[in-house]
Formats: sequence, structure tokens, C-alpha cells
Amino acid sequence: MKEKINVSEIFGSHVFNDSVMKARLPKAVYKDLKKTIEEGTELNPAIADVVANEMKEWAIEKGATHYTHWFQPLTGVTAEKHDAFINPTDDGKVLLEFSGKELIKGEPDASSFPSGGLRATFEARGYTAWDCTSPAFIKETDNACILCIPTAFCSYKGEALDKKTPLLRSMQALDIQTTRLLNVLGNKNVKRVSTSVGPEQEYFLVDEEKYKQRKDLIFTGRTLFGAMPPKGQEMDDHYFGIIKPRIEGFMKDLNIEAWKLGISAKTEHNEVAPAQHELAPIYNSNNVATDHNQLLMETMRRVARRHGLKCLLHEKPFAGINGSGKHNNWSMITDAGVNILDPGKTPAENTQFLIFLTAIIKGVDQYADILRVSAASHGNDHRLGAAEAPPAIISIFLGDQLQDIFDQIEHGEATSSLQGGKMRVGVNTLPYLNRDATDRNRTSPLAFTGNKFEFRMPPSSGSISGPNFVFNTIVADALKEFADQLEKAEDFNEAVHDLIRDTYIAHKRIIFDGNGYSEEWKQEAARRGLPNISNTVDAIPALITDKAISLFERHHVLSRLELHSRAEINYEAYIKQINIEAKTMIDIASKQIRPAVLKYAGSVAQSLAAIKSVGGDTSVAEELLQEINENIAQFHKALKHLEEVAEQAQLLKGSSRSQAVFCRDYVFEAMQALRVPADALEMLVDEDVWPFPTYGELLYNI
Ligand code: ADP
Ligand code: MG
Repeated sequence: MKEKINVSEIFGSHVFNDSVMKARLPKAVYKDLKKTIEEGTELNPAIADVVANEMKEWAIEKGATHYTHWFQPLTGVTAEKHDAFINPTDDGKVLLEFSGKELIKGEPDASSFPSGGLRATFEARGYTAWDCTSPAFIKETDNACILCIPTAFCSYKGEALDKKTPLLRSMQALDIQTTRLLNVLGNKNVKRVSTSVGPEQEYFLVDEEKYKQRKDLIFTGRTLFGAMPPKGQEMDDHYFGIIKPRIEGFMKDLNIEAWKLGISAKTEHNEVAPAQHELAPIYNSNNVATDHNQLLMETMRRVARRHGLKCLLHEKPFAGINGSGKHNNWSMITDAGVNILDPGKTPAENTQFLIFLTAIIKGVDQYADILRVSAASHGNDHRLGAAEAPPAIISIFLGDQLQDIFDQIEHGEATSSLQGGKMRVGVNTLPYLNRDATDRNRTSPLAFTGNKFEFRMPPSSGSISGPNFVFNTIVADALKEFADQLEKAEDFNEAVHDLIRDTYIAHKRIIFDGNGYSEEWKQEAARRGLPNISNTVDAIPALITDKAISLFERHHVLSRLELHSRAEINYEAYIKQINIEAKTMIDIASKQIRPAVLKYAGSVAQSLAAIKSVGGDTSVAEELLQEINENIAQFHKALKHLEEVAEQAQLLKGSSRSQAVFCRDYVFEAMQALRVPADALEMLVDEDVWPFPTYGELLYNI
């Protein structure tokens, strides 16, 4: 018999969630807090002490000794500073205390977090502020048990220094404009609209002992060397394949740990590449989904260690086989629980649906460059546009049915081929739309999948905050324009119809239903004037164009200053990452590969001499030695070159943009050039002397 897992008991057991609050807080306090959480009203400071005390009591019962303000600085990982609950008393003992003040606000010394010039070190103070819309939780590791309070992190002057702040602001912007437009459309009961998000997380698992023998994985998260194994993913036998027992053990444990934290881990399966897997939770509010995804990545890493595994979240841990992404599923839901992106059953609902769809098309086309930078990272550069899903050009896939409807709207009062009704959107005679889940286009970076949009560009290791706050804002902006127009329309039906048609015509270039990998699409996209931004360095400027600044300022999501600081941080992160990779490569090449190859070449030379001395045929040994010599000479030259440019990069003066451009054009290129002879040598040298585990050993030995 299997040990029974009581899922409903485990689920959320480490979360200070609604049911815990309801059970433990005085009724009036609970009601007050709930109003803040649900309606976004200001928090009543008078209740903070009561909430804090109850939180502490609950946490102590669960074994917690410390609390922390848990936040997401611009490093890409989460941050926490633990404080014990203790407060000394006169008799030399301690009381365990946690005040409302401590709950609401923290003042970590923030000088070591990236600020992109927003905060001079003499103004080191930063603030963390409680985000009560994301529930507090207990993080239990093998050695600690901490009450974690999700917080936003900003500078002394209130500028956002984290990933959460712009996300919350963008959710509010979208709420305002969506509600407004719904009201204009006669949907007067809607008070609030929230975004819901379900991120599918891809990852690799490799054996921890093998991992430890690879400095590239340790320092950079990806392999910098490695010849392709005899078998890659060409057999398509891993995707949805049977899960190996050791991986099953990991997944079981991971589910339990995720469930404890209230993360609704739902779907798990093997992915396309060997050793690659995926986990998808059930969707949640945008803010909570974003926090949960950060927690999930952390939990994956922790649980993997328990199983002697290493979880690789890098976008491209192995060259030549599929990388990892994070598909961000996104929709808008009213306070009554209605999904606005659900085509609906009645023509009236259809009209509303089509207006929102049109707004999204407009927003994405107008701001494709900003959406692109939201998914850009050094690691993702290996993925986007590199002959795997998805391409670097942003386009939208709608599916046949919707495409057909838009075509008819575009060409006037066409008769619908689908139901024979008159196509005149404003007058409520649109045909019934079936939910179209079968028509999937796997190459599209942004696909409409029945009742949500799936954005497939985001990097597997990154926070989903960026892609979401950008998406929320660009959609809010299009909705704002629509609401502005419709509010003053004289003939409402006519106005709606024209709005959909004209907007569609103006922005339909962003729609593409074909093969996103093909060379023809690149050419076609260029003809259409769509941006094709192949790397992070070229993507970053989109953050600080006049267009971007006015967009984000208009919706109070980020200011000019905050945007500039983010662009700066992105450049810095890129430069640092390339430098670390270059140094790691130099280290491995000089201290591991070169000595191993020379040693092996020596032994081949010895064999050759021995064969010669007995008058044998030396042709094979000679040929091998020559091939090794040619490659090691090329290798040595490439290594010297990499050393030179890496050093130049360190000494560069000038803007961070110019440094990043240098890193991309010289350092990164030099790294690619060094890899080629190294991988060739791996195929020539005795596997017993090769100094670290190969792709084959990493990908297949679990
Ligand atoms: P697939 O791999 O076919 O795209 P998955 O089941 O792996 O599908 O993932 C789909 C994701 O989309 C899940 O996280 C799911 O919760 C999420 N999702 C479903 N409906 C919505 C919605 N209305 N809004 C946001 N996310 C959604
Ligand atoms: Mg999936």
C-alpha cells in the first residue's frame, strides 16, 4: 500500500489565507482587511497590530522563530532578511512579539540591491511595504522555519526598486480602463476587473554529482562546452513520455511542498528535450501567480537537492537541444467571475469580446518592442529566434474562426459563412463563436487559446512580473483610447462597429497564422514593418523611448526615472553575465581542457613511436594526432583571443550600453569561437581523460 497523501489537508497549510484569517481574526478586523484585499482600499493602520499578532501566533504554532519581509528586488531572485520575534524583558527572558508597524513596513539597508542610479548609497534606506493582497506564508526548509510577508520594495523617495510595484500599478491601470469600457458598453454592474495568470514552468533535472563536476553549470547555469550526444531529441520520445522513478519521486515531493504553500501545482509532464520537464499550476490572480512562480522556482531547487538532483532553470542549459521558457497564460476576469476573453454565447457578449480582442491586437502591435524587451534576458537570447519556439518577432495567432470573423468585419457587411447571420458587430448579430482549443499554433509567440492569451516568450528563470506589467499596461492603453472614443459617440452601434473595423485594419499586420520559424516569415515580417529584435542589447532601448515613457507615465506604472534605471540595470546584468561566462570559459579551457588534451596527445605520440619501433602501420595514430594538433592550435588561438577581449571589456569606459554592445559583439563572439574546437576535441579524446561529464552523461544518466 502506498502511503496516503491527504491533499486537502496539506493544501495551503503553510499559508495565512482567507480561511485562517476568518477563523482567527476578530470579525470586524477580518472584514476590514478583506475589504482592503478585495477592493484595494487603503489599509486601516488601526487593525495592523491585531493582524500582526495573530499572524505571529499562527506562525509560532507552525514552528516559526523568525519573520521576514519577502521581496523581489531587480536582481531577478527574491530577497529576505530574517528577524526573530524575540523582545527581551527585564528579567532576562524574552517575549515573542510582532507589531503592526513591523508588519506594514520594513527598512532594509538597500544599498546593495541594484537601483540603476535611482538611489545613491548615502541614501541607502529602502522601504518594504506589506502587500496584503498576496497572503503571508511559512517557508520551511530543512533548517529553518520563517514567516514570510510579501512586500513591495521602494526607495526613500518612493521609486520602485522591485518587480512587484509596477505589477500592482499595472493591474490597477488595467482595472480602471477595463471597468470603464465595460460600463460604456452597458455592463454597469462590473466594479472591478483583475488579471489572472497561469505560468507553465519548464526546467531540466540533472544528477547533482555530475553537476558538481561542471564549473560552467555551477557558475553560469548553462554548459559552455559540450559536443552533442549520439542521441538528442530527434526521436520525440521524451515529450509526454513515461516519467522515470527518480523524477517521479522529485515531482511527488515538489507537489507536496508547493501545495503546502498554496501553489496549485496541477499538470506535470516530460518536455521535448531529454531531462526536461514542465509544471503548470492552476491560474491565479496576477500578483499571487507571480509570487507563487518565484516560490515555485525556489522550491524546485530545494526539493531537487533532496533527491540528489540539480534543477536547471536556465533558458538554454544545453546547446543544440530545446531550451526552457515560461508560457504566460493571461486573461481578464470581472468581480463576478466572468472571463472577458471568453467568446461567450450571445451576440452581445460577442461584441464585447471582440472589442477587447481588438484592443489587445492594437496594444501588442503598437508596443511590440516593449513586449519584446519584457521577455529579453541574456539567457533567453539563446532561445528566441534561435530555430526553436518561439521566434524573436512578436506576432499574434488567432485561429481560423476568429480570423474569419475579422476578415468579414474588415470587408463590410459580409454574410457570415459560419452561421449565415449578418455580420454587423455593433448591432449584435455576430455568429456564435465556438471555443476553439484544437487549433494550436506552437510556433507563435502570442497565441489566443480559446479564452486566454498565451505568451510564450518569457524566460524560464525570470520573474513573470515584467511580461505581465507590460501586457497589462499596453492593453490598458488601448482600452483607454476605446473608452475615450465610445464615451462620446453619438451613434453607439455604428461607433463600435467602426472602431473594431478601423482598429483591426490599422493593426492586422501583427496577426500571423503561419510557421513562425520559417525564413519567409522573417522577410514577410520585415515587409510588414514588424520589429525583429534578436538580442537583449538591442531590445533594451525600447524601455526608454518617448513612446514607452509616455505610455508608462500615462498609466502611473513607471516614471521616466524608473524606466531609465531599469534599462541601466538590464545593461549591467547583461555585461556581468557575459563577463562571468567568459571567465568561466577561460578557466575551464586553460585548467581542464587544455591539460587533458595535451596529456592525451602525448599518449598518442607515445603509441605512435611504439608502433613505429616495431615497424607497424602508424597512419591512424598519425592522422589522429594531426587532427588533435590542428584543433588544439585553433583552440589555443581562440582562448588567447577570448582572454584579450574579456580583459578589454573590463577596462572599457563609457556608457553601459556601449559596454554591453562590446560584450555582445566581441566577448560573446569569442566565446562561440572557442567552443567550436573544444567540442571537436571532445570527440577526438579518450572519454576517460575528458575532464568533466559529457552531454550524454548529463542528459541520460538518471
Ligand atoms: P498547454 O500546455 O496546453 O498550454 P497547460 O495545461 O500546460 O496547457 O497550461 C495551461 C495554463 O493556462 C494553466 O496554468 C492554466 O491554469 C492556465 N489557464 C487556464 N485558463 C486560464 C485563464 N482564463 N487565465 C489565465 N490562465 C489560464
Ligand atoms: Mg503546457
